[in-house]
Order: sequence, then structure tokens, then C-alpha cells
Amino acid sequence: VLPAAPPGTDAALEVLRRVFGYESFRGRQAEVVDAVIGGGDAVVLMPTGAGKSLCYQVPALVRRGTGLVVSPLIALMHDQVDALRAAGVRAEFLNSTQSPDERAEVERALLAGEVDLIYIAPERLSGGSVRSLLDRVAAGPGISVFAIDEAHCVSQWGHDFRPDYLALADLVGRWPGVPTMALTATATEATHRELTTRLHLEGATHVVASFDRPNIQYRIVPKDDPKQQLLKLIRDEHRGDAGIVYALSPNAVEQTATWLAEHGVDAIPYHAGLDARIRAANQSRFLRDDGVVVVATIAFGMGIDKPDVRFVAHIDVPKSVEGYYQETGRAGRDGLPATAWLAYGLQDVVQQRRFIDQSVGDAAHKRKQSANLDAMLALCEAVTCRRRQLLAYFGQPTETDCGNCDTCLNPVETWDGSVAAQKLLSTIVRLQRERNQRFGAGQIVDILRGKRTPRVEQHQHDDLSVFGIGSDISDRGWRSVLRQLIAQGVVQVADDYGTLGLGRLGPAVLKGEHPVRLRHDLEKAAAAHSGSKR
Ligand code: ADP
Ligand code: ZN
Repeated sequence: VLPAAPPGTDAALEVLRRVFGYESFRGRQAEVVDAVIGGGDAVVLMPTGAGKSLCYQVPALVRRGTGLVVSPLIALMHDQVDALRAAGVRAEFLNSTQSPDERAEVERALLAGEVDLIYIAPERLSGGSVRSLLDRVAAGPGISVFAIDEAHCVSQWGHDFRPDYLALADLVGRWPGVPTMALTATATEATHRELTTRLHLEGATHVVASFDRPNIQYRIVPKDDPKQQLLKLIRDEHRGDAGIVYALSPNAVEQTATWLAEHGVDAIPYHAGLDARIRAANQSRFLRDDGVVVVATIAFGMGIDKPDVRFVAHIDVPKSVEGYYQETGRAGRDGLPATAWLAYGLQDVVQQRRFIDQSVGDAAHKRKQSANLDAMLALCEAVTCRRRQLLAYFGQPTETDCGNCDTCLNPVETWDGSVAAQKLLSTIVRLQRERNQRFGAGQIVDILRGKRTPRVEQHQHDDLSVFGIGSDISDRGWRSVLRQLIAQGVVQVADDYGTLGLGRLGPAVLKGEHPVRLRHDLEKAAAAHSGSKR
């Protein structure tokens, strides 16, 4: 029996060492590289930081011709091209930032066979002129690979759909003998399936890496005073570390960045509303300097390759588990311990539901967005290992708890919330049946607690039989109960105004057919947070 050959063909290893300065392939890179060098197509699902770029860069350099890389972000394109040039690779890009002269020069070089790798923005490829240019390259010096990065952008129901990606499908197979690659860090089976069919890659080698990032500690805390909570996290655990803080709106980004800066954190903002020059300057300061904290909308980070990001914090709940996973995946690419921290509150849920209701798009799209949000909320409300939940969500279930997430480190105390849930549901039902009214969280909690507010008196809600039946639980306690019932699908936010109705499981809970387990944490966690000193 011959000894097994080391993974990676000789030519691939030679390029890896000479050009990139790495000793060996990592994880499942060699499998992908070998398949593509052999002329096969590949679908590559690897978590952020796993090293997807090398999967196409190496075959592009080993095979004859120019490697074609579709990449959606111009900033990222520049970084990649700069890095490749520094390594002696003849890399170019084609995007909307170039002048006609610059473009003409790139075209000339392409046709002369002087380009190893070309990065192209997807919108460039929908035009006929670039297509015919590439046809000439294919017929002349050759195309070595056709790589579609961030391939999940082709998924119409995904969190990051880009219409230009749909047009890429007709380029697949256009140049016979050129292997096509689709790469993404999105891991759900649904996305995998969709990008495979849309890009006609059924016959490809599919490499789905493990999505576990063991060095990332996942923590999700009840949102109380998010700025203070965030500052405490930074001061207690990440003083002087580089980090990314995600917020939903540009406004929240600005306020948080300013506030952190006033409290001695080297924080800078990043969002689409900022002047392009400031944005670029802030991004490069984050990449270049030590210990900078970027406060950003999700516009920031796709493809950011900074290995030593020590924490990613979300002060608003992300729209989907996929988004959350990609964003948190930017922490700890160097493999050293890193924190993924999220503060999550009831207001977020109401607001996100409103976004979905008001969004353009058909009913199916809204249902999908709603399902995405529900999965995210279920993760937030998990009473068991977060990592196991995450991995199961990505179709990679595990047998054991991870020992490195908040629910593992501090097991969550749960209580039987069935009776509380029934009280709350009855209140919603009584208002509907007896008064034909719907109300939001505030009024419902006031009724449960038996508070005679002007609004309660105005509507004579103190006459309801449910008035005061929940006085044994505090305001805060009820908010926690409600948040969890929404996440579990027992209660739902019924409309734009945040009024509440029965969720999918509501009727079963009312009838006592479905027990409700709730986390005990809101008040305790908030108290522990403000009280504990490290
Ligand atoms: P992804 O695109 O999957 O998020 P990247 O391609 O940006 O990841 O790679 C992440 C980091 O890992 C980069 O700094 C890259 O240089 C490094 N890297 C990739 N492959 C290897 C390898 N085989 N050996 C050492 N470092 C690697
Ligand atoms: Zn765990």
C-alpha cells in the first residue's frame, strides 16, 4: 500500500507556498483546489475566515489563463487586488469606479494574457460588452476559473439578495472547459439548494465545511441599557481590543459611536449614509490601527479580513440567524478566543415585525422574512446550548454541549410559565371578544398588573375580569414573559401598531395542551450585570 499523498497537488502546494507563503492547506481547501484544478466545478460552503479566497486563487494561478472572480463589494475588491499585487500576482479589477481609460487598459492587458486574476463587480457582467470581452479572453489567452464569491446573493429569499447575481447564471457553462465555483459563508440547506439550482451546479463537487467556530463564545443578554451594557463588556473584557458593534440604523450607529468615544473607547462609525471618503478612511483605520471599535450597520464587514477582531457586539437583534452567524463570524479569525455578544429586547421584536410588514415584496417573501426572524428569536430565547442550536440550524447537529456559550457557562434557570401565558392570552382574547379591541404590550401589561392609568380608565379596562390577575409578576417580568412568548410563537405582534394577537401556539397554550417553559433571566441578569465586578 502506498502512503497517502499529502493533500493538494504538487503544483497547488507550490503556488500556496511561493505566492501566499503558507505551508499547507487548511481544513477542506485542498479538496476544493484539487477538484477545480482537475477541471471540475465546485460549490464551497465555509464559515467566514475559513479561507475561501485561496480556494479559487490557487487554481486560478495553477491553470492556464485568467481567473475571473465575481465579487459584490468594491472596497473588498480593492483590498484583495492590493494584497495579491503585493504578493506578485498580476491582479486587476473592473468596476464602476474606473475611468474609461483605466478600463481600456485593463481590457488590453486581459486580451494580451497579462492578467492572473480579475475581480469583476456583478453589474459589470450583465452588460454585453464585458461578456464579449470575456468571450475573446476565453478564446485567446484563456479563462482559468470562473469564481462567484458571496454566491448566496443569488438566493432571492436570502438575507442578501442582489438582482445582478441572477444574470450570472447564464455565464455558467458559457466557456467550455472553464470550471465554475460558487463560494459562500451562508450555510443553510435551503440556500445551498437554491444557489446550486440557480447556478446550474448540480454536478459540482460540493464541499460543506464544519460551521463551528469553537473559539467564539456566544452570549445573548436581555437588553436593558444597551450602551451601558456594551461599555461594560468593552471595559471588563475587551479593553483596547478591536471590535465591531452592529446596530440597525445609521442613527443608532452615530449615537453609539459618539457615546463610546465620549467614554474613552476608540470608536468610529460606519454606515451607508456617510460620505464615501469618510467611510473608506474609517474602514482603513479599523484595519490598520490596533484596538479600534467600528460601530456599523450591516453594510460593514462583508469580506473584511481582519484576523484579530476580538468581539462582535449586536445592540439590535439581527434579521436572521444567517446574518447573525456571518456577522459574528468576523470575530476571532485568528483562532484566538473571541466574543459574540448580543443584547436583545422586546422592542427589537416589535420593530422588526413592523419592518417586515412595511417592506415591499409579496406575501411569500414576508413569510420567509418572518420565519427568519422567528428562528433568530428562538436562538435568543434558547434555554440550551447556543452553539448546538446554531449548528443544528445549519444542518450540522452535534451530540454534546459546547461549554463555551452563555447557556453552557451559566445554565439558564427556567420556570413553568404556562399559567402566566394563559393569563396574558386570556387578556388578549377578552379584549378581542368582549370589546373588539386590540392593544400593544404596554396596555396589556397594565391590565394584567391592575394599574388604574388614565388609559385604563378611559377604556374601562378595570371592568374586565382579567384586570389585576397578573399582579404577582412585575412590569419587567411581564415584558420578559411577553418577549419569550412572542419568540416561541405563543403570542404574535399582529400589525404595524404593535398590537398583540394569539400566535400559532396560542390556542394550545390556552387549552393547557402545550406547556410553556420560560427563562428566569431578565431581572436576574440585569441585576447581576449592574452588580458584578470582575
Ligand atoms: P473567507 O473568505 O473564507 O472568510 P479568507 O479567504 O479571507 O476567508 O481567509 C481568512 C484568513 O485565513 C486570511 O487571513 C487568509 O490569508 C488566511 N488563510 C487562508 N488559508 C490559509 C492557509 N492554508 N494557511 C494559513 N492561513 C490561511
Ligand atoms: Zn454551549
